[in-house]
Amino acid sequence: MALAHEVMENYGRLKLYIDGEFVESETSQYIKAFNPAKDEVIAEVPNTLPEEVDKAVEAAYEAYLKWRETPIPTRVQYLFRIKEVLERHKEEIARIIVQNHGKTLDEARGEMRRAIENVETAIGVAYLLEKGEYLENIAKGIDEYLVREPLGVAAIISPFNFPVMVPFWFIPYALAVGDTVVVKPSEITPVPFHWVIKLLHEEAKLPPGLINVVYGLGNVGESLISHKKVFGVAFVGSTPVARAIYKRVGELGKKAILQAGAKNFAVVMPDANMDRTIPNLISSFFGNTGQRCLANSVLVPVGEAYDKVVPKFREMASQLRLGYGLDEDVDMGPMATRKGLERVLKYIDIGLEEGAKLTLDGRGKKPEKYPNGYFIGANVFEEVTLDMTIAREEIFGPVVSVIRAETLDEAIEMINSSQYGNASSLFTSSGAVARKFRREVNVGNLGINVGVAAPMAFFPFGGRKESFFGVVHGQVDSLDFFTDKKIVIERWW
Ligand code: NAD
Repeated sequence: MALAHEVMENYGRLKLYIDGEFVESETSQYIKAFNPAKDEVIAEVPNTLPEEVDKAVEAAYEAYLKWRETPIPTRVQYLFRIKEVLERHKEEIARIIVQNHGKTLDEARGEMRRAIENVETAIGVAYLLEKGEYLENIAKGIDEYLVREPLGVAAIISPFNFPVMVPFWFIPYALAVGDTVVVKPSEITPVPFHWVIKLLHEEAKLPPGLINVVYGLGNVGESLISHKKVFGVAFVGSTPVARAIYKRVGELGKKAILQAGAKNFAVVMPDANMDRTIPNLISSFFGNTGQRCLANSVLVPVGEAYDKVVPKFREMASQLRLGYGLDEDVDMGPMATRKGLERVLKYIDIGLEEGAKLTLDGRGKKPEKYPNGYFIGANVFEEVTLDMTIAREEIFGPVVSVIRAETLDEAIEMINSSQYGNASSLFTSSGAVARKFRREVNVGNLGINVGVAAPMAFFPFGGRKESFFGVVHGQVDSLDFFTDKKIVIERWW
């Protein structure tokens, strides 16, 4: 097992992965990928040319024609190989996630667990996939039945904050049903996925063309989605981009899963077990430095809960130890990008201008050892009202807006008035309160005494309103996205 700092210092120019081979892009445009704790360049990322995207899709399509003929038990054997490779190297990959993204090692290990869990779930494809219906004699001598078919080449476009887990929300299911994929990882954190592909190439020996990888900016995503041999896109990222892609796939008549941005509320009732609730809230608000679509970012204490939760929460938040995730004793890493840090600082300014009270100020905090990293401490705003920008927009950083509610109904109304509907949490010891909350809150993922409502792979990943566009959700539900039903009406004479 690699030791703390045994990650490579620089991964050089990342190569595209097309038809089972690593190919250097002919682009002249390279983007820099950083270690955000140190502000050091660790790789150069090609902005793939349209003709190279075309090659990747063509390779995926050729591979699909054979792969769809490969019997399911054989396909599943390849998924077992993928699982083995990820298990064998999970620690090493987790360290590269820390290096390129900045999250803590435990958070990166959690990400790897979730990626692997999706492969394990897809291995059960023969049990999971609806196997069809058969009805005899719908007319004299005529039978009617349904078969599920793979659709060809899918595009997978992923965000910076979970560089390995998110592509694996989709890849295993696509392969399990007989599709092939072209993946475009985030240009900000492409290194961990690049490493996964290198390991799969060396050790899993998948048939060439099953997984192809192109890198680059939004324009690469656009040419991938527009390619006539791509049947659809599984996208995870921000709401403006998701909405633009939704329009585009509508014009093109393609399928889409689009998981988007969030603004999540955590409601604390006076009867909550505060000793357990507060640490749970801390990890929900500040885990991954607040860069999680399931992170809560608005804290809503109801009535007397305010005094029981807010002072202790603020105190605990102030003690989070900032640092580089590959060092010991680090609770919170840097922001993943300098731009992200600037965005957070901008929102803090806006919060102050709009009259909120910054009762914990994390600005300017950084570990002595890493003066150049994109660090910021935890921030807590109190006296926030729902009309303030910081209460409505996705900040995607370690900034908490506290809004007091007098009743549970008021708290629920606040959540339902948000443009987003990704996740929400409730802390209480009352079953009746929890039930009411579950029934009335309009979000896709709900945590009851759970701060990060992350669905396991064998459940769909929810999302509503501007946090999700499409019909079918991610993880196991994506089996429906990667296949379609064919209805056969059959007569023999
Ligand atoms: P982003 O939207 O900036 O980028 C996501 C991906 O889309 C990247 O690979 C990017 O290169 C690509 N892209 C950008 N413009 C494109 C275009 N026009 N066409 C095609 N592809 C394009 O998001 P990000 O900053 O990387 O990720 C953070 C966002 O993702 C946050 O809003 C967060 O809430 C959201 N997120 C949502 C979920 C979820 O499940 N709902 C999970 C993780 C992250």
